Amino acid sequence: MKILVQKFGGTSVADLEAMKHVLSKVQHGLEKNDKVIVVLSARAGETNKLLALAGQWSATPNKAECDCLVSTGEQVSIALFSMLLNDAGISARSLLSWQIPIRTNDDFGNARIMEIDRDVLMKQLELYDVLVVAGFQGVTEDGRITTLGRGGSDTSAVALAAALDSSECEIYTDVDGVYTTDPNICSAARKMDCVSYEEMLEMASMGAKVLHIRSVEFAKKYKVPVRVRSTFSEDAGTLVTQEDASMEAVLVSGIAYDKDQARVTLRNLPDVPGTAAAVFGPLSEKGVLVDMILQNTSQDGHTDITFTVSRKDLQATLAIMNEIADKIGASEILHDLSVAKVSAIGVGMRNHSGVAARAFTALTQEGINILMISTSEIKITILIQEKYVELAVRILHDTFGLDWDIA
Ligand code: ASP
Ligand code: MG
Repeated sequence: MKILVQKFGGTSVADLEAMKHVLSKVQHGLEKNDKVIVVLSARAGETNKLLALAGQWSATPNKAECDCLVSTGEQVSIALFSMLLNDAGISARSLLSWQIPIRTNDDFGNARIMEIDRDVLMKQLELYDVLVVAGFQGVTEDGRITTLGRGGSDTSAVALAAALDSSECEIYTDVDGVYTTDPNICSAARKMDCVSYEEMLEMASMGAKVLHIRSVEFAKKYKVPVRVRSTFSEDAGTLVTQEDASMEAVLVSGIAYDKDQARVTLRNLPDVPGTAAAVFGPLSEKGVLVDMILQNTSQDGHTDITFTVSRKDLQATLAIMNEIADKIGASEILHDLSVAKVSAIGVGMRNHSGVAARAFTALTQEGINILMISTSEIKITILIQEKYVELAVRILHDTFGLDWDIA
Protein backbone atom coordinates (compact mmCIF):
# COMPACT_ATOMS: atom_id res chain seq x y z
CA MET A 1 0.00 0.00 0.00
CA LYS A 2 1.43 3.37 -1.01
CA ILE A 3 1.03 5.85 1.85
CA LEU A 4 1.91 9.54 1.68
CA VAL A 5 2.27 11.76 4.74
CA GLN A 6 1.41 15.43 4.22
CA LYS A 7 1.88 17.99 6.99
CA PHE A 8 0.37 21.46 6.89
CA GLY A 9 1.48 24.34 9.11
CA GLY A 10 -0.50 27.05 10.88
CA THR A 11 -0.88 29.47 7.96
CA SER A 12 -2.10 26.62 5.73
CA VAL A 13 -5.02 25.91 8.06
CA ALA A 14 -5.56 29.49 9.27
CA ASP A 15 -9.06 29.83 7.77
CA LEU A 16 -11.53 28.18 5.41
CA GLU A 17 -9.94 29.75 2.34
CA ALA A 18 -6.48 28.40 3.21
CA MET A 19 -7.92 24.98 4.09
CA LYS A 20 -9.39 24.74 0.60
CA HIS A 21 -5.84 24.85 -0.77
CA VAL A 22 -4.96 22.08 1.65
CA LEU A 23 -7.93 20.09 0.38
CA SER A 24 -6.66 20.30 -3.17
CA LYS A 25 -3.16 19.17 -2.10
CA VAL A 26 -4.66 16.17 -0.33
CA GLN A 27 -6.79 15.33 -3.40
CA HIS A 28 -3.59 15.48 -5.43
CA GLY A 29 -1.85 13.22 -2.94
CA LEU A 30 -4.66 10.68 -3.23
CA GLU A 31 -4.34 10.56 -7.01
CA LYS A 32 -0.78 9.26 -6.75
CA ASN A 33 -1.05 7.23 -3.53
CA ASP A 34 -3.44 4.70 -2.05
CA LYS A 35 -3.79 6.50 1.26
CA VAL A 36 -2.85 9.86 2.76
CA ILE A 37 -2.04 10.73 6.35
CA VAL A 38 -2.58 14.44 6.93
CA VAL A 39 -0.85 15.99 9.94
CA LEU A 40 -2.04 19.44 10.96
CA SER A 41 -0.75 22.26 13.14
CA ALA A 42 -2.97 24.57 15.10
CA ARG A 43 -4.35 27.52 13.14
CA ALA A 44 -1.86 30.39 12.90
CA GLY A 45 -1.50 32.24 16.19
CA GLU A 46 -3.58 29.72 18.14
CA THR A 47 -0.75 28.08 20.11
CA ASN A 48 0.53 31.52 21.16
CA LYS A 49 -2.96 32.54 22.28
CA LEU A 50 -3.37 29.39 24.36
CA LEU A 51 0.04 29.86 25.97
CA ALA A 52 -0.86 33.46 26.80
CA LEU A 53 -4.08 32.23 28.37
CA ALA A 54 -2.16 29.81 30.58
CA GLY A 55 0.01 32.76 31.62
CA GLN A 56 -3.06 34.75 32.66
CA TRP A 57 -4.35 31.96 34.83
CA SER A 58 -1.09 31.08 36.50
CA ALA A 59 2.34 32.63 36.92
CA THR A 60 3.81 29.13 36.84
CA PRO A 61 1.34 27.00 34.87
CA ASN A 62 1.43 23.30 35.65
CA LYS A 63 3.35 21.82 32.73
CA ALA A 64 1.08 18.85 32.15
CA GLU A 65 -2.01 21.06 32.19
CA CYS A 66 -0.29 23.51 29.88
CA ASP A 67 0.19 20.68 27.36
CA CYS A 68 -3.42 19.60 27.80
CA LEU A 69 -4.42 23.19 26.98
CA VAL A 70 -2.12 24.01 24.06
CA SER A 71 -2.70 20.67 22.34
CA THR A 72 -6.32 21.72 21.74
CA GLY A 73 -5.25 24.02 18.91
CA GLU A 74 -4.48 21.01 16.72
CA GLN A 75 -7.73 19.31 17.72
CA VAL A 76 -9.70 22.20 16.25
CA SER A 77 -7.76 21.99 12.98
CA ILE A 78 -8.18 18.24 12.45
CA ALA A 79 -11.92 18.27 13.17
CA LEU A 80 -12.58 21.20 10.84
CA PHE A 81 -10.46 19.78 8.06
CA SER A 82 -12.04 16.33 8.33
CA MET A 83 -15.43 18.01 7.79
CA LEU A 84 -14.12 19.54 4.56
CA LEU A 85 -12.82 16.17 3.37
CA ASN A 86 -16.13 14.46 4.12
CA ASP A 87 -18.05 17.17 2.29
CA ALA A 88 -15.76 16.62 -0.70
CA GLY A 89 -16.72 12.93 -0.71
CA ILE A 90 -13.43 11.68 0.71
CA SER A 91 -13.61 9.09 3.46
CA ALA A 92 -11.64 10.54 6.34
CA ARG A 93 -11.53 10.83 10.10
CA SER A 94 -9.61 12.81 12.66
CA LEU A 95 -7.22 11.19 15.14
CA LEU A 96 -5.77 12.62 18.34
CA SER A 97 -2.47 11.23 19.58
CA TRP A 98 -4.04 9.14 22.36
CA GLN A 99 -6.34 7.48 19.86
CA ILE A 100 -3.38 6.01 17.94
CA PRO A 101 -1.42 6.24 20.34
CA ILE A 102 1.71 8.27 19.69
CA ARG A 103 3.64 7.45 22.87
CA THR A 104 6.07 9.97 24.27
CA ASN A 105 8.11 10.36 27.43
CA ASP A 106 6.76 12.68 30.12
CA ASP A 107 8.95 15.69 29.40
CA PHE A 108 5.93 18.00 29.18
CA GLY A 109 6.36 20.86 26.73
CA ASN A 110 9.27 19.15 25.02
CA ALA A 111 8.36 15.48 24.90
CA ARG A 112 10.07 12.91 22.71
CA ILE A 113 8.24 10.33 20.64
CA MET A 114 9.05 6.81 21.84
CA GLU A 115 6.66 4.66 19.84
CA ILE A 116 3.79 4.83 17.36
CA ASP A 117 1.25 2.01 17.11
CA ARG A 118 1.35 1.11 13.44
CA ASP A 119 -1.38 -1.53 13.74
CA VAL A 120 -4.07 0.92 14.80
CA LEU A 121 -3.19 3.20 11.90
CA MET A 122 -3.22 0.33 9.42
CA LYS A 123 -6.65 -0.78 10.67
CA GLN A 124 -7.97 2.75 10.32
CA LEU A 125 -6.52 2.92 6.82
CA GLU A 126 -8.67 -0.06 5.87
CA LEU A 127 -11.70 2.04 6.78
CA TYR A 128 -10.66 5.47 5.54
CA ASP A 129 -8.63 6.91 2.66
CA VAL A 130 -7.38 9.85 4.70
CA LEU A 131 -6.48 10.01 8.38
CA VAL A 132 -6.19 13.52 9.76
CA VAL A 133 -3.80 13.41 12.71
CA ALA A 134 -3.16 16.14 15.27
CA GLY A 135 0.47 17.23 15.11
CA PHE A 136 2.54 18.49 18.05
CA GLN A 137 0.98 16.15 20.63
CA GLY A 138 1.60 12.77 22.18
CA VAL A 139 0.52 10.75 25.18
CA THR A 140 2.53 9.28 28.02
CA GLU A 141 2.44 5.66 29.18
CA ASP A 142 -0.03 6.67 31.90
CA GLY A 143 -2.29 8.55 29.56
CA ARG A 144 -1.31 12.18 29.95
CA ILE A 145 -1.20 14.53 26.98
CA THR A 146 2.21 15.93 26.04
CA THR A 147 3.48 18.35 23.41
CA LEU A 148 6.70 18.04 21.41
CA GLY A 149 8.06 21.59 21.63
CA ARG A 150 7.25 24.60 19.44
CA GLY A 151 7.11 23.67 15.77
CA GLY A 152 6.78 20.02 16.77
CA SER A 153 4.15 19.07 14.18
CA ASP A 154 6.95 18.54 11.67
CA THR A 155 8.32 15.86 13.97
CA SER A 156 4.90 14.23 14.33
CA ALA A 157 4.69 14.01 10.54
CA VAL A 158 8.16 12.56 10.01
CA ALA A 159 7.65 10.06 12.84
CA LEU A 160 4.39 8.90 11.26
CA ALA A 161 6.09 8.64 7.87
CA ALA A 162 8.83 6.50 9.44
CA ALA A 163 6.32 4.28 11.25
CA LEU A 164 4.30 3.70 8.07
CA ASP A 165 7.23 3.41 5.62
CA SER A 166 5.75 6.31 3.72
CA SER A 167 7.38 7.02 0.36
CA GLU A 168 7.88 10.67 1.27
CA CYS A 169 6.88 13.15 3.93
CA GLU A 170 5.66 16.43 2.50
CA ILE A 171 5.89 19.43 4.81
CA TYR A 172 3.68 22.19 3.48
CA THR A 173 4.29 25.71 4.67
CA ASP A 174 3.98 29.26 3.34
CA VAL A 175 7.39 29.35 1.64
CA ASP A 176 8.47 27.51 -1.51
CA GLY A 177 11.22 25.51 0.15
CA VAL A 178 14.60 25.87 1.80
CA TYR A 179 16.71 28.77 0.58
CA THR A 180 20.47 29.17 0.31
CA THR A 181 20.13 31.92 2.90
CA ASP A 182 17.45 34.17 4.35
CA PRO A 183 15.78 35.88 1.33
CA ASN A 184 14.75 38.75 3.64
CA ILE A 185 18.34 39.91 3.94
CA CYS A 186 19.81 38.62 0.68
CA SER A 187 17.74 39.12 -2.46
CA ALA A 188 20.06 36.78 -4.39
CA ALA A 189 19.01 33.81 -2.21
CA ARG A 190 17.93 30.81 -4.26
CA LYS A 191 15.58 28.01 -3.43
CA MET A 192 17.47 24.70 -3.23
CA ASP A 193 16.11 21.68 -5.10
CA CYS A 194 17.72 19.36 -2.65
CA VAL A 195 19.73 19.44 0.56
CA SER A 196 21.23 16.71 2.71
CA TYR A 197 20.00 15.87 6.20
CA GLU A 198 23.36 16.94 7.66
CA GLU A 199 23.25 20.34 5.97
CA MET A 200 19.65 20.86 6.99
CA LEU A 201 20.51 20.03 10.60
CA GLU A 202 23.25 22.65 10.58
CA MET A 203 20.98 25.19 8.95
CA ALA A 204 18.12 24.56 11.36
CA SER A 205 20.34 24.74 14.41
CA MET A 206 21.84 27.95 13.03
CA GLY A 207 18.51 29.70 12.98
CA ALA A 208 17.20 28.79 9.52
CA LYS A 209 13.94 27.75 11.10
CA VAL A 210 12.12 26.03 8.26
CA LEU A 211 11.86 22.65 9.95
CA HIS A 212 11.68 21.55 13.56
CA ILE A 213 15.20 20.29 14.19
CA ARG A 214 14.08 17.04 15.76
CA SER A 215 12.09 16.20 12.62
CA VAL A 216 15.31 16.33 10.59
CA GLU A 217 17.08 14.09 13.11
CA PHE A 218 14.20 11.64 12.84
CA ALA A 219 14.21 11.80 9.05
CA LYS A 220 17.95 11.17 8.96
CA LYS A 221 17.74 8.24 11.37
CA TYR A 222 14.92 6.51 9.52
CA LYS A 223 15.92 7.73 6.03
CA VAL A 224 12.60 9.44 5.36
CA PRO A 225 12.78 11.78 2.37
CA VAL A 226 11.21 15.10 3.42
CA ARG A 227 9.93 17.61 0.90
CA VAL A 228 9.42 21.18 2.09
CA ARG A 229 6.97 22.99 -0.17
CA SER A 230 4.27 25.63 -0.28
CA THR A 231 0.54 25.03 0.13
CA PHE A 232 -0.07 28.03 -2.09
CA SER A 233 2.01 27.15 -5.16
CA GLU A 234 2.76 24.24 -7.48
CA ASP A 235 6.52 24.41 -6.89
CA ALA A 236 8.20 21.05 -6.19
CA GLY A 237 9.92 22.59 -3.15
CA THR A 238 13.13 21.31 -1.58
CA LEU A 239 13.88 17.65 -0.99
CA VAL A 240 15.76 16.94 2.25
CA THR A 241 17.42 13.61 1.75
CA GLN A 242 20.56 11.49 1.94
CA GLU A 243 23.76 12.99 0.66
CA ASP A 244 24.78 12.05 -2.87
CA ALA A 245 27.64 12.79 -5.24
CA SER A 246 25.97 15.83 -6.81
CA MET A 247 25.63 17.48 -3.39
CA GLU A 248 29.29 16.87 -2.61
CA ALA A 249 30.31 18.63 -5.81
CA VAL A 250 28.94 21.89 -4.39
CA LEU A 251 31.38 23.46 -1.97
CA VAL A 252 28.98 25.54 0.10
CA SER A 253 25.24 25.02 -0.11
CA GLY A 254 23.97 27.61 2.32
CA ILE A 255 24.78 30.57 4.54
CA ALA A 256 23.08 30.68 7.91
CA TYR A 257 23.21 33.29 10.64
CA ASP A 258 22.21 33.59 14.25
CA LYS A 259 21.86 36.83 16.17
CA ASP A 260 21.05 35.10 19.43
CA GLN A 261 24.62 35.21 20.67
CA ALA A 262 26.27 36.77 23.70
CA ARG A 263 30.01 36.63 24.26
CA VAL A 264 31.66 36.18 27.65
CA THR A 265 35.40 36.50 28.28
CA LEU A 266 37.25 35.41 31.42
CA ARG A 267 40.62 37.15 31.72
CA ASN A 268 43.87 35.89 33.18
CA LEU A 269 42.88 32.44 34.26
CA PRO A 270 45.66 30.20 35.58
CA ASP A 271 46.61 27.87 32.71
CA VAL A 272 46.43 24.64 34.71
CA PRO A 273 44.52 21.38 34.31
CA GLY A 274 40.93 21.73 35.53
CA THR A 275 40.34 25.39 34.69
CA ALA A 276 38.03 24.75 31.74
CA ALA A 277 36.16 22.08 33.69
CA ALA A 278 35.68 24.54 36.57
CA VAL A 279 34.21 27.11 34.15
CA PHE A 280 31.94 24.91 32.03
CA GLY A 281 30.90 22.36 34.66
CA PRO A 282 28.66 24.76 36.62
CA LEU A 283 27.18 26.13 33.38
CA SER A 284 26.12 22.71 32.17
CA GLU A 285 24.70 21.89 35.61
CA LYS A 286 22.42 24.92 35.27
CA GLY A 287 21.42 23.85 31.75
CA VAL A 288 23.20 26.72 29.98
CA LEU A 289 24.16 25.68 26.45
CA VAL A 290 27.59 26.96 25.48
CA ASP A 291 28.14 27.41 21.76
CA MET A 292 31.57 28.59 20.59
CA ILE A 293 34.62 28.29 22.87
CA LEU A 294 38.05 29.81 22.44
CA GLN A 295 41.08 29.51 24.69
CA ASN A 296 44.15 31.63 24.03
CA THR A 297 47.72 30.39 24.25
CA SER A 298 49.16 30.90 27.66
CA GLN A 299 51.26 33.90 28.67
CA ASP A 300 53.13 33.79 31.98
CA GLY A 301 51.06 30.76 32.96
CA HIS A 302 47.79 32.61 32.38
CA THR A 303 45.21 32.50 29.62
CA ASP A 304 41.84 33.95 28.55
CA ILE A 305 38.76 31.86 27.80
CA THR A 306 36.00 33.29 25.60
CA PHE A 307 32.69 31.58 24.88
CA THR A 308 29.23 32.36 23.60
CA VAL A 309 25.78 31.58 25.00
CA SER A 310 22.23 32.39 23.98
CA ARG A 311 21.31 35.98 24.97
CA LYS A 312 18.56 34.75 27.26
CA ASP A 313 21.19 32.84 29.25
CA LEU A 314 23.62 35.75 29.63
CA GLN A 315 22.42 36.95 33.05
CA ALA A 316 22.49 33.42 34.49
CA THR A 317 25.93 32.87 32.96
CA LEU A 318 27.34 36.07 34.45
CA ALA A 319 25.88 35.22 37.86
CA ILE A 320 27.59 31.81 37.78
CA MET A 321 30.89 33.32 36.58
CA ASN A 322 30.84 35.93 39.34
CA GLU A 323 30.21 33.21 41.88
CA ILE A 324 33.20 31.13 40.74
CA ALA A 325 35.51 34.01 39.75
CA ASP A 326 37.63 33.81 42.91
CA LYS A 327 37.86 30.04 42.82
CA ILE A 328 39.02 29.93 39.22
CA GLY A 329 41.21 33.00 39.62
CA ALA A 330 39.73 35.18 36.83
CA SER A 331 40.91 38.78 37.05
CA GLU A 332 38.06 40.14 34.96
CA ILE A 333 34.75 39.00 33.41
CA LEU A 334 33.73 40.79 30.22
CA HIS A 335 30.61 40.40 28.12
CA ASP A 336 29.33 41.64 24.80
CA LEU A 337 25.77 41.51 23.49
CA SER A 338 26.48 43.03 20.09
CA VAL A 339 27.80 39.88 18.42
CA ALA A 340 26.26 37.40 15.99
CA LYS A 341 27.47 34.42 14.02
CA VAL A 342 27.46 33.62 10.35
CA SER A 343 28.08 30.11 8.97
CA ALA A 344 28.90 28.63 5.61
CA ILE A 345 27.55 25.07 5.36
CA GLY A 346 28.18 22.37 2.76
CA VAL A 347 28.95 18.67 2.61
CA GLY A 348 31.36 19.51 -0.24
CA MET A 349 33.77 20.91 2.39
CA ARG A 350 34.62 17.35 3.40
CA ASN A 351 36.62 16.88 0.22
CA HIS A 352 37.81 20.40 -0.50
CA SER A 353 40.27 22.62 1.27
CA GLY A 354 40.54 26.39 1.23
CA VAL A 355 36.93 27.17 2.08
CA ALA A 356 37.82 28.90 5.34
CA ALA A 357 40.54 30.99 3.71
CA ARG A 358 38.13 32.14 1.00
CA ALA A 359 35.56 33.15 3.59
CA PHE A 360 38.09 35.07 5.69
CA THR A 361 39.51 36.87 2.66
CA ALA A 362 36.08 37.94 1.47
CA LEU A 363 35.14 39.33 4.89
CA THR A 364 38.47 41.08 5.30
CA GLN A 365 38.04 42.85 1.96
CA GLU A 366 34.88 44.44 3.37
CA GLY A 367 36.64 45.40 6.59
CA ILE A 368 34.67 42.97 8.75
CA ASN A 369 36.62 41.93 11.81
CA ILE A 370 36.47 38.27 12.80
CA LEU A 371 36.04 37.78 16.55
CA MET A 372 35.88 34.00 16.82
CA ILE A 373 36.02 31.05 14.45
CA SER A 374 34.84 27.49 14.79
CA THR A 375 34.75 24.73 12.22
CA SER A 376 33.28 21.29 11.78
CA GLU A 377 33.49 18.84 8.90
CA ILE A 378 30.75 20.59 6.94
CA LYS A 379 30.59 24.07 8.51
CA ILE A 380 32.64 27.18 9.16
CA THR A 381 31.23 29.57 11.72
CA ILE A 382 32.47 33.10 12.25
CA LEU A 383 31.52 35.40 15.09
CA ILE A 384 31.35 39.08 14.10
CA GLN A 385 29.77 42.32 15.26
CA GLU A 386 26.01 42.04 14.85
CA LYS A 387 25.80 45.19 12.74
CA TYR A 388 27.73 43.42 9.95
CA VAL A 389 25.59 40.29 9.78
CA GLU A 390 23.51 41.21 6.72
CA LEU A 391 26.61 42.35 4.83
CA ALA A 392 28.56 39.24 5.78
CA VAL A 393 25.75 36.94 4.67
CA ARG A 394 25.53 38.67 1.28
CA ILE A 395 29.30 38.59 0.78
CA LEU A 396 29.64 34.90 1.65
CA HIS A 397 26.62 34.04 -0.47
CA ASP A 398 28.28 35.71 -3.44
CA THR A 399 31.79 34.40 -2.66
CA PHE A 400 30.65 30.80 -2.77
CA GLY A 401 28.74 31.19 -6.01
CA LEU A 402 25.31 30.82 -4.47
CA ASP A 403 24.02 33.91 -6.26
CA TRP A 404 24.00 32.01 -9.55
CA ASP A 405 22.44 28.76 -10.52
CA ILE A 406 25.43 26.45 -10.60
CA ALA A 407 23.48 23.22 -11.02
N1 ASP B 1 1.17 24.53 16.90
C1 ASP B 1 2.48 24.25 17.41
C2 ASP B 1 3.31 25.53 17.44
O1 ASP B 1 2.85 26.58 17.07
C3 ASP B 1 3.17 23.17 16.67
C4 ASP B 1 3.44 23.44 15.23
O2 ASP B 1 2.84 24.33 14.62
O3 ASP B 1 4.28 22.76 14.65
O4 ASP B 1 4.43 25.49 17.87
MG1 MG C 1 6.73 25.03 11.67
